[in-house]
Amino acid sequence: MKTYQTQCLPVNPDSVALAGRLLAQGEVVAFPTETVYGLGANAFDSRAVEAIFQAKGRPQDNPLIVHIAEDSQLAPLVADVPENARRLMQRYWPGPLTIILRKSDRIPFEVTAGLDTVAVRMPSHPAAQEVIRAAGVPIAAPSANRSGLPSPTRAEHVLQDMQGRIPLILDGGACGFGVESTVVDLTGDVPVLLRPGAVTFEMLTQALGRVRIGGGVMASLGEGEVARSPGLKHKHYAPRFARVLVLEGADADIARHVARFTQEHGLCCAAVVKHALAALLPQHVRVWDAGADDAAYASALFDALRALDDGKTQIIFCQSVPASGMGLALMNRLLRAAAFQVERVAPQGGTHDASVG
Ligand code: AMP
Ligand code: MG
Repeated sequence: MKTYQTQCLPVNPDSVALAGRLLAQGEVVAFPTETVYGLGANAFDSRAVEAIFQAKGRPQDNPLIVHIAEDSQLAPLVADVPENARRLMQRYWPGPLTIILRKSDRIPFEVTAGLDTVAVRMPSHPAAQEVIRAAGVPIAAPSANRSGLPSPTRAEHVLQDMQGRIPLILDGGACGFGVESTVVDLTGDVPVLLRPGAVTFEMLTQALGRVRIGGGVMASLGEGEVARSPGLKHKHYAPRFARVLVLEGADADIARHVARFTQEHGLCCAAVVKHALAALLPQHVRVWDAGADDAAYASALFDALRALDDGKTQIIFCQSVPASGMGLALMNRLLRAAAFQVERVAPQGGTHDASVG
């Protein structure tokens, strides 16, 4: 693999122009979006796309999302644009929504990992739009993390994972939503939500009527479901060293459980919890206050998982949330980070193992 002196530059007209030139030359560039940082390449250039897989260490069978900045860039990518796609594009583009449609012949095999469908999104982040325009082509871009690790929500996270592996990172500060885009498959009779995000299941249902939640959203995939969204079968979002454990229950019960658990096992523990629970946890647990609501928690989660994973911390407890609205996206990421290990903490401190999968 080629090695680079990776430059990390603030977003401005000069750095965006440089990103555009590098992308046009077939190089890979990281840039901020409103969801997480992306690792982009010219979607029509199979060698450039191949370099994304190398830089990430991404399994070859996991397809990429193609990012566009103008409506007119969609038609060359897809076989047709059905009515339900038009409706979603009108409501939620630009924004954190990826739609899956039948692909055109122009998309290289590498982008879709051989599938006959393509995932397309129009990001709303001004820097992402400027980069796509500067490149003059649609940009294939997965999240800019090394494969399997938490997605990057700050330029520092991208640098941790990509130093020496790509020529340029554009630093646009922290991403807004902090979880990846909603992915909805529009190629069948009924739309299927494959990955929940900030465009929620409820919003999709309101726009489209009936929507099915894909089998991999809240559980690990069964054998037959793998082909539909290949990315869901791979290990995801896990810190390098620490184990993640999701805790479900009332605040006071979780606090009691964590205190007893850490005392009994003598492990070095941290916790990512909402504001109300943060104050109840024992002093020797490193607490990451994830704010008051699900949106704040989602935007803090990946940052917290990276920052708390210092090599000494053995367990990171994460508070579960109800799986509706933004909470569905949050639980989808939490369950994967925890390899589906969930403990339901009962009142009086008793616990039932509620691992799902
Ligand atoms: P990432 O770019 O890391 O956010 O991952 C992109 C996600 O979109 C993965 O979960 C992929 O499996 C999914 N994806 C991309 N293209 C397709 C497609 N054509 N069909 C189904 N899922 C897709
Ligand atoms: Mg990813």
